[in-house]
Amino acid sequence: MIRGVLVKTTLVDYPGKVAAAYFMSGCNLYCPYCYNVELVENTLPKEDSTSPKEVIAHLQKRKAVLGGITLSGGEPLIHKELSEFIAEIKKIGISVKLDTNGMLPEKLEQLFEKPETTPDFVALDVKTAPKRYKELARDRENDSNYTKNIQKTIAIVSRMAPENREFRTVLVPPLIDTKDIEAIAQLLPKDASWQFANFRAENCLNKEYNNISPYTETKINELILYAQSFIKGAELR
Ligand code: SF4
Repeated sequence: MIRGVLVKTTLVDYPGKVAAAYFMSGCNLYCPYCYNVELVENTLPKEDSTSPKEVIAHLQKRKAVLGGITLSGGEPLIHKELSEFIAEIKKIGISVKLDTNGMLPEKLEQLFEKPETTPDFVALDVKTAPKRYKELARDRENDSNYTKNIQKTIAIVSRMAPENREFRTVLVPPLIDTKDIEAIAQLLPKDASWQFANFRAENCLNKEYNNISPYTETKINELILYAQSFIKGAELR
């Protein structure tokens, strides 16, 4: 059953739109730097969470103001009710942006099979070089095709029109350096919007990451310039 946290209005979660955002509980990765601990561990108190039915009611009420909703997580694609939920939202006339970690390419592909379940915009997190994805797993011994999954999802999202997609990378020092940027850049379309964000060493899932110093401004500029040497649309958000 989907539960999540609803942000009723946001100007920063859906490019170019006044939107709502719904952060769904549950995730199939365990990124050490993640600060959405309650969502990932499924420990969100019931009184702080909102059901899809309540989200639909909010969208109905505010449809004159809201142009879209961002469905984020956790990882929205783990929920089997997601396609039905998207169809219900689109029926109201609200656009859907999907944020995904790229670990369920088949589920994403299924959404594109029908116009009523097709997300209008997809933001894909690409967290490190594909071959390093095991470092983001809950169970590192279990070989779960992480590398193939992120590669497949990049290919699916790349097929969308450039204005309907973006790729995002958090500059976490142990996970992203020049060689990882180069490995990711080789897979992205040349016209990609590639949005970088700085790492915050706060409330991380892996407590050791709270002691990691974020990159300096000089290093960030250096990494973004390096990314731009492959993909012009790379920038710091
Ligand atoms: S940062 Fe990683 S663990 Fe946290 S919600 Fe996103 S994909 Fe899941």
